[in-house]
Amino acid sequence: KTTATLFGKENSAVTFKDVAGLEDAQMEVREIVDFLKNPGVYTRLGAKIPKGAILVGPPGTGKTLLAKAVAGEARVPFFSISGSEFVEMFVGVGASRVRDLFKRAKEKAPCIIFIDEIDAIGRSRGKGAFLTGSNDERESTLNQLLTEMDGFGTNNGVIVLAASNRADILDPALLRPGRFDRHIYLELPNLTEREAIFKVHLRPIITDTSVDVHFLATQTPGFSGADIANICNESALIAARKKENKVNKQDFTDAIDRVVAGSEKKGKIIS
Ligand code: ATP
Repeated sequence: KTTATLFGKENSAVTFKDVAGLEDAQMEVREIVDFLKNPGVYTRLGAKIPKGAILVGPPGTGKTLLAKAVAGEARVPFFSISGSEFVEMFVGVGASRVRDLFKRAKEKAPCIIFIDEIDAIGRSRGKGAFLTGSNDERESTLNQLLTEMDGFGTNNGVIVLAASNRADILDPALLRPGRFDRHIYLELPNLTEREAIFKVHLRPIITDTSVDVHFLATQTPGFSGADIANICNESALIAARKKENKVNKQDFTDAIDRVVAGSEKKGKIIS
């Protein structure tokens, strides 16, 4: 791999129209969009623009989606890297990758850096060392991340968003003022929110009149946004396989069963 492929950089096309529900989280990130678009409004009054925020929530609730929407709305580049990629690396590689990422981001400021699965590197020191990867490597990567966050001045136009399934296992050093001091919580969607998420993901799907969004929402308690996106696509695949012209209610029911079976398999081995 060359350094150019060590992390992703894209111009995100995602906007808030693609995000359903998550009202509170959306409100918080709207402020970040404004920091990126109109920094002068804040700095003129002597305010320090936050450097980082952590998006916390169960898998598939839209953390990555929301981070991309921030970049898309502010029309700034989106640099992304996943914490889990670091754990299998040789000592020193993770740290130099972090250094490189911040260097490139600063050149392209204003921009967003997104660190997915930050718990893989930012887990409390000494905790869970037996789980995966070398602890030395994780620590040197984490230390480099802390150094970068402290090193770049406030108001330089780089905002770091990180995602984690759990905030309780994160190293407190990460959460100190001037680092990831804002926590934005995402929850699994309720009935109304699931309806809204279905509406987003049904946009490209050709459905017949038997398909009712409210019914679909009632059939999917405990499902995440990612599950719902999956169901919508799966139902279209099922309908296509059956050579139907439109996707119908039965296709959705079959797709729900399939997604349920898929997540059961992930959770435990079934016969
Ligand atoms: P993980 O913790 O597994 O990385 P995540 O919280 O980052 O998950 P995303 O990758 O953002 O979840 O979500 C996966 C996909 O699910 C999104 O690309 C989107 O299609 C869909 N999705 C999730 N949440 C929402 C939502 N609130 N509104 C619309 N779509 C959603």
